[in-house]
Amino acid sequence: MMLLEEMNWTQIEAGLEKTRTLILPVGATEEHGPHLPTFTDTIQALEVAKEVARRRPVFVAPPVHYGVCRSTRGFPGTISISPEALRKLVLDLLFAFRDSGFERVLILTGHAGGQHLAALKEASERAVAKRDIFVSLVSDFDLIDTSEVETPGDGHAGEIETSRMLVIREDLVRGLPQKHFPPRPRYLIMKDVRHLMGNGIMGDPSKASKEKGKRFMEMSVQGVLEALEELESHPSS
Ligand SMILES: [Zn+2]
Repeated sequence: MMLLEEMNWTQIEAGLEKTRTLILPVGATEEHGPHLPTFTDTIQALEVAKEVARRRPVFVAPPVHYGVCRSTRGFPGTISISPEALRKLVLDLLFAFRDSGFERVLILTGHAGGQHLAALKEASERAVAKRDIFVSLVSDFDLIDTSEVETPGDGHAGEIETSRMLVIREDLVRGLPQKHFPPRPRYLIMKDVRHLMGNGIMGDPSKASKEKGKRFMEMSVQGVLEALEELESHPSS
């Protein structure tokens, strides 16, 4: 498995003979209810990337542990950066990957906030406009077939994420709390939403299981494998 952080430069140089494609996992440091750890989004993206790298040649970069978190702000443990900072960081990274010999980068984000995704998209668009690099942007959450999810509208720290964490780090899952869907304003822009968020869950963790977690994980892995095929089917110029 080609984990960039564990390789020395001679191994990386040799690896580049096999593939010039790299996955950049992006997550967040964010509250995930009273039962899941703050690196839930990061570790999910990283574990999917690693599993993909076990099945085919592809590099995996060290993950970005910080993202843009809006709806969970105000909780202890949600450490958000600004969209500008994320955009600049990811753009710099894309340029640096290209300078290091990587020609195709798949950004796999485990966090799916609106402003977070927009910042990643902007960085990707700027990178391909300015450099000879191919970039794909994949949101891990979109790879889950919702017809296989018991909870309608399951989201943050709910059935899906709790199931996946049972597979990845069961030791860090502290119970399976009841379902919780906080009311959210439809149109109103609020300064602070902490009082609406209750315990920070938006879904139903009580429906989580390891079996489901394995299935959700496999859906993500298959989705990333397909995205890599698309990315590599693009001719290099
Ligand atoms: Zn999450």
